[in-house]
Amino acid sequence: MSETMSVAAASKAPGAKEGGAPRQHYWRGLHVPFIAPWSGESMPLGTIVRRPGPEGDGIAYADEYGRADRRHGVLWLRAGVTRGRGKPFFAEVHALRQRQAMAHLLCQVCGTSTFGRDDERHLFLVQGEEGPIAEGEKTTSPPICEPCAHESLRSCPHLRKGATAALVGYTPYWGVAGIVYDPITLTPILSDERDGLTLVGFDDPLIRWTLAARSVITLNECTTVDLELELTTVQRKLS
Ligand SMILES: [Zn+2]
Repeated sequence: MSETMSVAAASKAPGAKEGGAPRQHYWRGLHVPFIAPWSGESMPLGTIVRRPGPEGDGIAYADEYGRADRRHGVLWLRAGVTRGRGKPFFAEVHALRQRQAMAHLLCQVCGTSTFGRDDERHLFLVQGEEGPIAEGEKTTSPPICEPCAHESLRSCPHLRKGATAALVGYTPYWGVAGIVYDPITLTPILSDERDGLTLVGFDDPLIRWTLAARSVITLNECTTVDLELELTTVQRKLS
C-alpha cells in the first residue's frame, strides 16, 4: 500500500454536482448529514475468524465476500445502505459513506463533490482544534462544501467556537480507524477514544488485525482560513 496514493485523483465522483446532488434528508428541521447512519441501516457483525493472507495471518469474515468486505486489502465493517430509512443518528458515522466521501472528496453534509473551487482546494473543518491545522495532520472527517459549512455554523453557533478551518490542497490516504483484534484471542481491543477506534496506518502490521470503520487521510498544503471571512464571502455569493 502506497502512502502517497492520492484520493484527490478521483475527480469524477458519484453524486458530483454535474450528475445532480444526492437526495437530501431532513429530520425535525435539521439537515441530516450524508455520513450519518440511519436505524434502518444496522447490520449484524459477521463472525470474525483468523485467515492467512499474502502478508501473513489476519482477520477475515467467516463468510467473507471479497469485493464488498475489503478495500485496499483491509477488512471493513459491514453496514446496510438504505439511507433515509428509520431514524438518523446525528452523532455517529456510517462507515461506508464516510469511506465514499473520503475517496471522492464529497461534502460530509450534502454528499456532493467538493471539487470545483478556482484554487482547486477543499475546505475541511476540524472540531476541537486550538490553533491552525498542522501540516500532515490525520483526520477521519471528510471535507465540507462552503454552503454546508455556512449552514452548519449558522444553525450550530457553538461549532463556530470549537472548529478550525483550512483549505487543503493534497489529501493522501494514511490508513484506517477501526477496531483492532487481538491476534491470539481474536477479541476486539477498544481504544480509550470515545468511539473505541484506533488509528492504524497502512504500513503497520496491525492493519491485518483491524476491522476498519473509517478512512484516514492526511491534510497537506493547508491554509488556515478565517471562517467568518470565508462564510461572509459565501453568503454574498449565495444571496
Ligand atoms: Zn455540502
